[in-house]
Amino acid sequence: MTELEKISREARACKICDACLPFGANPVFRAGEQSKILIVGQAPGIKVHNTGIPWNDKSGQELRSWMGVSKEDFYNTELFSILPIGFCYPGKSKSGDLPPRRECAPEWQNKFTSHLPNLKLILLVGQYAQRYYLKGKGYINLTHTVRNHLEYLPDFFPLPHPSPRNFIWMGKNPWFKTEVVPYLRERVHSLIYEKK
Ligand code: SF4
Repeated sequence: MTELEKISREARACKICDACLPFGANPVFRAGEQSKILIVGQAPGIKVHNTGIPWNDKSGQELRSWMGVSKEDFYNTELFSILPIGFCYPGKSKSGDLPPRRECAPEWQNKFTSHLPNLKLILLVGQYAQRYYLKGKGYINLTHTVRNHLEYLPDFFPLPHPSPRNFIWMGKNPWFKTEVVPYLRERVHSLIYEKK
């Protein structure tokens, strides 16, 4: 068994915040040693929790369409690893899902990334991923951080969350779809398809 397989097995058995989760611990992630791109999102929604498949919802459809990748490639761990900031469904608040559990990222992110030797790019999808990985180097808000995405390359690419709840944000910030999405697609394709 590889180190990455050992870490994955430990993470699947994690119960650190089990008592605070409405349906108990059910970590949803995917990791492969050959992955070139890591997608760091927020936390599973209820559909992802129920199916155990990351990004198995409208947000996932939108993210795949931004990148211009098929479902088959998206779930190929030789291309993508998928590690949300919180691995388990955190439950609901009055205005949507609760934030990812704080305990999760410090426990697991570094353990995984230190065993993903082929990573060329980390997509930071949403404010929680950006806050954790950019460590104070983000701008005053997500809009400014995404607008200045070139500053974080080649290691990180900050993105808004592709949830339908953010379609209003997309409408207010048309530069995202006209400038950032085409560049994201080009970057992703150059990394995952260059030797295909
Ligand atoms: S959210 Fe993370 S730290 Fe909490 S139980 Fe799930 S895997 Fe463990």
